[in-house]
Amino acid sequence: MAGAGNAIRGSRVGAGPMGEAERGDAAPRQTVTYFCSHDHRSVVTFAIEASVPESWDCPKCGLPASLDSENPPPAPKIEPYKTHLAYVKERRSETEAASILDEAVALLRSRRKAGEIIF
Ligand SMILES: [Zn+2]
Repeated sequence: MAGAGNAIRGSRVGAGPMGEAERGDAAPRQTVTYFCSHDHRSVVTFAIEASVPESWDCPKCGLPASLDSENPPPAPKIEPYKTHLAYVKERRSETEAASILDEAVALLRSRRKAGEIIF
């Protein structure tokens, strides 16, 4: 729900400042609009002589954004805000694996003491 509201507001804001950017006082500037796969529009202002990068990190969600509104770059498989969680999960399963291994070794030892042969 919040996402839809933001998209509408974002497009209104994006449509607005076009005229504003043209009355640059000192250095001539160009405005470039980037589109990310979350339908965010990011209007970035560059100096007129600057070479405009083909992609830009969306300031709203951090995903890569491109100049082509029809073809925004696909979101990476792991989004930035998920990376930490994935890392924590990974760590947790490592810890679990280690404790499972400890249990298995303890079990193996206790069975060996009991005279069982386990391969
Ligand atoms: Zn975005």
